[in-house]
Amino acid sequence: MSEAKIDTRLWSTKARNLSPYVPGEQPQHNNLCKLNTNENPYPPSPKVAEAIAQLLVEQATALRLYPDPESDALRSALADFYQLEHNQVFVGNGSDEVLALVFASFFLKERPVLAPDISYSFYPVYGQTFGVNLIQIPLESDFSIDPDSYRQPCSGIIIANPNAPTGLLLSLDAIGKLASEHPNAVVVIDEAYIDFAQCEDDSRPVSAISLINEYDNILVTQTFSKSRSLAGLRVGMAFGNASLIEALTRMKNSFNSFPLDKLAQAGATASVLDTEYFRQTCQQVIDLRESLTVDLTALGYTVLPSQTNFIFARPKNGNASAVAQALREQGIIVRHFDKPRIQDYLRITVGTPEQHKRLIEALTELHRA
Ligand SMILES: *Cc1c(COP(=O)(O)O)cnc(C)c1O
Repeated sequence: MSEAKIDTRLWSTKARNLSPYVPGEQPQHNNLCKLNTNENPYPPSPKVAEAIAQLLVEQATALRLYPDPESDALRSALADFYQLEHNQVFVGNGSDEVLALVFASFFLKERPVLAPDISYSFYPVYGQTFGVNLIQIPLESDFSIDPDSYRQPCSGIIIANPNAPTGLLLSLDAIGKLASEHPNAVVVIDEAYIDFAQCEDDSRPVSAISLINEYDNILVTQTFSKSRSLAGLRVGMAFGNASLIEALTRMKNSFNSFPLDKLAQAGATASVLDTEYFRQTCQQVIDLRESLTVDLTALGYTVLPSQTNFIFARPKNGNASAVAQALREQGIIVRHFDKPRIQDYLRITVGTPEQHKRLIEALTELHRA
């Protein structure tokens, strides 16, 4: 198919100037070992399909009507799960949409927004889309985040925690420090991967949700895409004090007032209610991550201590781009970022034991050659 020549004559200046986020590819081949976009290797809870099927079969007219604009059943399930008030919970079409509403609700001010220089690459894209001056604060040389380097006037701070693509976790103490040093800024903690994180002392929380009653300026976002195996359903959420949630709700109702369709609301609610399945699959992913770390380390890789469902690792000779290319030729897809400081690393999603076997065999062969 030949590509049509695009005529931008009728475009807005804004549309002309955008440089959009590029998602990891979703090739449609069979037998591909797809370890590039941090999807969960396990299927979602069987309760999800049951709930969606039930909605479609038993309430034949369900889709004739608009969905609940406030997604109340889902928000109640999330409030119960995290022991929050209903008005401390917001939901949207994936956390990417929630983050867009965050930028529009809190960051459109004179003062800049601060984010780590190596982090989720959607933040600078949104900065551009929403006309927000986003300043990137360099990570330390070990890729950690030092809250002291955020000491400058700002209207917001946005940090992925654990960070991507490094996989490293920032402590709740550091997050509390950021929030108390910036009382007039919204501190957004993007916890897309938090369900795979654990404290050494297992009884202590790792999620900044545990801080939102103490700090009125902390907003936590999460997603069903990673730990709940529902990337295709598009559900994300935010947790924060009722005033922050109200701002997001107003912005939502000025943009897209029925964000979650009925199937997404039903499926996501069923997923939250199946706590047993959730905990079990998260633990299985964590166990697989640890075994993959051991195997890669044995091959001479430097592996950052991951608290996510992916691994950020440097091949012995740092030739990450060549390794990614060689793997691709064998149908194994991992993510390589051709960016300063991280171009020697590969981001590898935790997969099934069979996928790990295939990956490690391919790498063993490759590094022997
Ligand atoms: C995957 C991811 C998201 C986006 O999640 P969706 O809910 O699928 O939109 C947001 N932030 C980070 C850091 C992610 O890795």
